[in-house]
Amino acid sequence: MAVIRPVRQTFHYRIPDSLRDVVAPGVRCSVPFGRAAAVGFVLALEDEPECPLKDLFEVLDPEPCLPTDLLELGAWLASYYHHPPGECLAALVPPAARADAEPVYRARSGAQPPPELGRAAGRLLERVLARGELRAAEIRTGDRGDLRVLLEGGVVERQWRIRAPSPPPREEWFSLAPQAPAPAAVATRSPRQAEALEALRAGPLPGAVLRARGVTRDALNRALAKGWVSRAQNRAPAADPSRFGIPFPAPAARLTPEQGGALEQVRQGLEAGAFTPLLLQGVTGSGKTEVYLRAVEGALERGRGAIVLVPEISLTPQLLGRFCTAFGDAVALLHSGLGERERRLQWEALRRGDARVALGARSAVFAPVRRLGLLVVDEEHEPSYKQEEGLRYHAKHAALVRARACGAVVLLGSATPDVETFHAACEGRYGRMVLPHRVLASAPLEVNLVDLRQEERRRRTRVLLSEPLRRAVAEGIARGEQALLFLNRRGFSPALVCGTCGEAVSCRSCSIALTLHRAPPVAALLCHYCGSRRPVPPRCPHCGNGELAAAGAGTQRLVEEAQRAWPGARVVRLDRDAARKGAGTAGVLGAFSRGEADVLVGTQMVTKGHHFPRLTVVGVVDADLSLHFPDFRAGERTFQTLMQVAGRAGREALAGRVFFQSRNPHHEVLTAAASGDYEAFARQELRLRQDAGFPPFRRLALVRVSGPDPVAAREAAGTAADRARSIAGRGLGIDVMGPAPAPLERLRGRWRFQILLRAPGPEAGPLQRFLRRLLEEGALVPSRSVRVHVDVDPVSLL
Ligand code: ADP
Ligand code: ZN
Repeated sequence: MAVIRPVRQTFHYRIPDSLRDVVAPGVRCSVPFGRAAAVGFVLALEDEPECPLKDLFEVLDPEPCLPTDLLELGAWLASYYHHPPGECLAALVPPAARADAEPVYRARSGAQPPPELGRAAGRLLERVLARGELRAAEIRTGDRGDLRVLLEGGVVERQWRIRAPSPPPREEWFSLAPQAPAPAAVATRSPRQAEALEALRAGPLPGAVLRARGVTRDALNRALAKGWVSRAQNRAPAADPSRFGIPFPAPAARLTPEQGGALEQVRQGLEAGAFTPLLLQGVTGSGKTEVYLRAVEGALERGRGAIVLVPEISLTPQLLGRFCTAFGDAVALLHSGLGERERRLQWEALRRGDARVALGARSAVFAPVRRLGLLVVDEEHEPSYKQEEGLRYHAKHAALVRARACGAVVLLGSATPDVETFHAACEGRYGRMVLPHRVLASAPLEVNLVDLRQEERRRRTRVLLSEPLRRAVAEGIARGEQALLFLNRRGFSPALVCGTCGEAVSCRSCSIALTLHRAPPVAALLCHYCGSRRPVPPRCPHCGNGELAAAGAGTQRLVEEAQRAWPGARVVRLDRDAARKGAGTAGVLGAFSRGEADVLVGTQMVTKGHHFPRLTVVGVVDADLSLHFPDFRAGERTFQTLMQVAGRAGREALAGRVFFQSRNPHHEVLTAAASGDYEAFARQELRLRQDAGFPPFRRLALVRVSGPDPVAAREAAGTAADRARSIAGRGLGIDVMGPAPAPLERLRGRWRFQILLRAPGPEAGPLQRFLRRLLEEGALVPSRSVRVHVDVDPVSLL
């Protein structure tokens, strides 16, 4: 039994005779645990051992809640990530997946209570008779023995009470009424309702989507009462394009030869029913999504199900539209914006086999798809596939493990694969397919590296938008085309700096400067790590008298600058702040795709797979921004981001021009991105990794130690590192580095230290054995104030 508690062991319980035929692997049970009760998953049934065991209390599911392949995946997660097994299994079940059935105890009709019944058992029987039935949850631990007496005496029987099945997933859809006023006309009087109207401008939307975009139930009800909005009960067809508020490409009539070749490899894998990992390396716009669609079709034709993972579902409306059009109700969207009830309905549809394709972000890798035959990981290089808290798993790794267990094809797609994936493909561990050309583009991209220092020396001022970029955008707008400006920093300015002492105003609980936000209602300073907010101080809080000035630019300032640079241009912004308001992400993307704006300014949210045919100019305002991050993957991340954002330009008939603005234009990552040669970059990057001893050549794990008191945290980290060194000294070949303060030394009031563990080679075994020994010998035990956790294959070293 894996009990849902933070413990690493699993436990054995005896099955009372009355429950023998309802216990099976995968069902949940309540069990005695310490002095209380807990819920756990049955892992396996074994013969009763010699030693006495405690009886389990109750069986909570009439049929297994998890199928066997997910039980196996849970066991792998627990052992590979060194995480409590019960918590791993619980992570595979959506929060709302309570069973629809509940065990109850009823009096057996006509049965006579045995005369020798004890007093307590008699009272329990009276309770059952008085109430008609007793829910299992109402039975106290102390009454369990008497309950058994009643069951064995045949006076009470155990049954399932089945709740009425949930209604089919019907959604309430809202649409604009013809007499609705323009949002702007009511914005001052009823800003909330104006947001609702704005959100519905692109077309009807389900209530859950509106709520996910911040439209309140109250605002909707008021708009309904005024007759501005109408409501419909029926479920809109999944393929209704208006659902996504943005146009998306129709299926291709015929595949290109490269696409056909790639699909053929997928088909062979499906046909063989064997584990087949494939890397689909295709430049942006080369038709990867089209291959995914056909691959899923191929799986369905063979009676197999599929999982399609995307980095972030709200950023991929076009991909969703294409999948829903192709597969309709066979698709289950596992969307965190859907709310728990809807998410659970989708999950159940997959478990029952009514839906065959799961589409979602990271955790959709755990979808209970039946006869899984294909897992697609789109943008497989994205760091968001790694969960950074709790169970720190990597969805790509989990996808490969799951596929190996069920003989499935894994299709890893990217324009800029993770160099570790590329390395595996070069070594022949993954098949590799290349789509070298953009399908629709008529001309190759023109990429320019702009040296900002030169222009700054000449103009004697900091430059946000260089002259070549300004000119290109102006020319584009004059031709009726669109431009995209990328700056991966939201807010107005990343720091407020004192003119006298030079200090930046920083967060009280994190070691990071606060970001100035100018957005209405009022300007404020925000911490981008912990979310805390404080008013803008009139003077420097450090020296007490200096004037404060905004240093550097974020997206809000960039919008102002763009409006000054191109007077009359319509500029829209997309970042996490903008996404929370009004029509949200889909609203901004939809408006831009309908040509209602000329310039789109945004953070990494604008770099994803969007397809805007009239977008011709892309400007990367600060290409150096992520280059000097204290992380061995900083170069790779920068390269990937630059390639991805450049890929938004010139996707169809109109030629694209890209500008990377840099103060370090000879840096090899930037020159590689400008030449667009992925393979040259990857080979060079892999050489650097090999020399420095980093993945994929040597495995890593990170031990993080944190606490509110810096001295206690540092000491605990020191002790853990000493223990690790003494264990490593016994010849396991593991390097123990640190402890060192984390690059982000203080976060949410906690001081953070880390110890890096490095294996001698690329295999998982040695590091796994080492970690197991560390845990067994108690070297990583947290205390009351100090937290300790292990991050296997860390993605973020911050
Ligand atoms: P990627 O996923 O690699 O960015 P997409 O699959 O989105 O590429 O394709 C880019 C564009 O090319 C889309 O508009 C798509 O409809 C179109 N396209 C893809 N494959 C074909 C094809 N074989 N014939 C015609 N158009 C295609
Ligand atoms: Zn903070």
